[in-house]
Amino acid sequence: MTRWTLSPDRIPSAWFNVAPHLSKPMDPPLHPGTREPVGPGDLAPLFPAALIEQEMSTEPWIDIPGEVLDILRLWRPTPLVRATRLEQALGTPARIYFKDESGSPAGSHKPNTAVPQAFYNAQEGIRRLATETGAGQWGTALAFACSQFDLDLQVYMVRASYEQKPYRRVAIQTWGGAVVPSPVDDPAHPGSLGAAISDAVRDCVAREDTHYALGSVLNHVLLHQTVIGLEAKEQLALAGERLPDVVIAPCGGGSNLGGIAFPFVSDADVRLLAVEPLSCPTLTQGRFEYDFGDTAGFTPLLPMYTLGHDFVPPSIHAGGLRYHGDSPLVSSLVRDGRMEAVAYPQGKVFEASVQFARTEGKIPAPECGHAIRATIDEALAAKETGEEKVILFNYCGHGFLDLSAYDDYLNGRLPDEQG
Ligand SMILES: *Cc1c(COP(=O)(O)O)cnc(C)c1O
Repeated sequence: MTRWTLSPDRIPSAWFNVAPHLSKPMDPPLHPGTREPVGPGDLAPLFPAALIEQEMSTEPWIDIPGEVLDILRLWRPTPLVRATRLEQALGTPARIYFKDESGSPAGSHKPNTAVPQAFYNAQEGIRRLATETGAGQWGTALAFACSQFDLDLQVYMVRASYEQKPYRRVAIQTWGGAVVPSPVDDPAHPGSLGAAISDAVRDCVAREDTHYALGSVLNHVLLHQTVIGLEAKEQLALAGERLPDVVIAPCGGGSNLGGIAFPFVSDADVRLLAVEPLSCPTLTQGRFEYDFGDTAGFTPLLPMYTLGHDFVPPSIHAGGLRYHGDSPLVSSLVRDGRMEAVAYPQGKVFEASVQFARTEGKIPAPECGHAIRATIDEALAAKETGEEKVILFNYCGHGFLDLSAYDDYLNGRLPDEQG
């Protein structure tokens, strides 16, 4: 067998909180004005109380509400697949498994957190959400989730994507969301994720009926994504497989990585590997310090690896990995040596993505291609040593709305990367 599915009643009933497993407690977020630790009251204009509680929680497990499970069951549990055709093509003794998150309504892992975020906001009586989106994956995921709870949604979309990549904008509108290009006050600017966050936060604080929602970086977002790793662990056991030697995922803000990797954090022999673009090398070349989450400096200061909040990454195809900062939880694991990080230029990433498409058949999102690159390199290293390495990676999204990126790669139009 090469594909393991769990029956719908085996969907995890609680999220795994990594916070109590860290070697030291997290440093708190700081208020952008006073630089004092942020309390729940400071976050209340932005988030519902339940999410603020999750953000600060050190409980080991947090129950998933039944209303959330009912929607997650539209596509969960997701399959665990053994990539035997890729193994054969590489001639590796490694056993390669991937967790396929591409079958969700939005085609990525992001609905795993969009659904609970929409639920807790609706439960608190909020009528409208404001958010940002880069290439559009988060905007589409949240638009789907808002449609399930009758919430209005305003999306600020990075202008370059808004103009060049219409399909995710159309998907957001199909689910009932409203989209405008960002930055709203500078129509000549191509935009950035940090600037779009500023636009969304500004919208939110100006209206009583509106909250803000973030698709990555924050503790509660990574918490919601742990269904990925929890299911994968159970499926590996079902496959008669031992624990993986290495768990691999691409890292933009850290949510799909945290989602698959955190449930393995206490398994000391399991390596955890973050993969990022060489052109936005937050974990591999950034500094660990307090920084703003956005460009304008509206958000709390977070302790994280950062390239500086005014860093504007070059416009690579893996739009979801173009963020100056990183999840504080992921940052803290990297700083403490529990998690490793590696960076690749996008040409090497597309080479791996095409090899995957021609063996396993699936065309990955460019973000996902980063994990595939690292997986192939781990499998080739195992071939050198003859090691029967077990590799698990997160297939965090499909590439059907990114085919113009493949067109550029196949026709030699990817820019030579400086980094
Ligand atoms: C958004 C996105 C990412 C990057 O975000 P993380 O929070 O780091 O997971 C990676 N892959 C896909 C498919 C995405 O949509």
